[in-house]
Amino acid sequence: MKLEGIHHISAITGDAPGNVEFYTGVLGLRMVKKTVNQDEPNVYHLFYGDEHGSPGMELTFFEYPGAVRGVPGAGMVHRIVWRAPSAQSLEFWCERLSAHGVSADLTGESLVFNDPEGLEHELVIASSEDEPLRARSPEIPSEHALQGFEGVRAYSSAPIRSERLLGAALGFQRRQGEHWEVRGEQRGSFYAYDQAPPEINRRQGAGTVHHVAFAARMEELEAWRTRVSEGGASPTPVVERFYFKSVYFREPSGVLFEIATIGPGFGVDEDERHLGERLSLPPPFEPLREQLESSLRELPYPPQWRVQSA
Ligand code: ZN
Repeated sequence: MKLEGIHHISAITGDAPGNVEFYTGVLGLRMVKKTVNQDEPNVYHLFYGDEHGSPGMELTFFEYPGAVRGVPGAGMVHRIVWRAPSAQSLEFWCERLSAHGVSADLTGESLVFNDPEGLEHELVIASSEDEPLRARSPEIPSEHALQGFEGVRAYSSAPIRSERLLGAALGFQRRQGEHWEVRGEQRGSFYAYDQAPPEINRRQGAGTVHHVAFAARMEELEAWRTRVSEGGASPTPVVERFYFKSVYFREPSGVLFEIATIGPGFGVDEDERHLGERLSLPPPFEPLREQLESSLRELPYPPQWRVQSA
């Protein structure tokens, strides 16, 4: 039983329209689901990804309109690392980000930049043979499109506390220092710790990561839950998220983890050709549609070229 790398990463935005402009417009991701936070259905939960909404490239945002910016600290993921195909791609992205007013720092084989709310991203040249995941965008040649997650970096003040859960329970392999690899039959990712900055400013808010989810086979979720529990963490019961099933727990360094199933996926309630174009509501929330459609903000999606090519 192995986890298939990162399934999705969920973060917070205070500005859904600006978030859509950045992730679909500038970074060229596809919106693969426009839905609401199932724990708080009056706010958006937006999912971006490749053309199919594949685990391994789902970046999601909960919107809290006007949320104050957060500051990552101990127990929080502070950087999302993406795969880019080549050194030329890093140059392409450096220029493209600059043209959109985003300062990007290109050093060697790494390009670091922040989203408009301060969430930190890094592009690195893909180091594995994993199948590249890509979204289409008329402005981004497919040879430069992002290819999914390489990994995440989190802050910890005492990463040694996490070793048993990561290594023995979750099957992460230590590569060097505090750099771990989580790899299954199909895909893998890294999970790494950096020394936490001083605690004074730490705050969950806009532009910070809320949790990171790792991918499991549907039939193995309960077994993972048992494994996590035996590893000393306190998993939630299995939660039905409609697009996948999930178990949540905090790892000992404080980072909120989720194990989410590969499937059923985003095609369960809409045509793959039109993912993310209308508000999707899992059945328990369907009665709220009229109210939600009038209270949620308009988003600049889908772009004209998607409507025309569908
Ligand atoms: Zn999640």
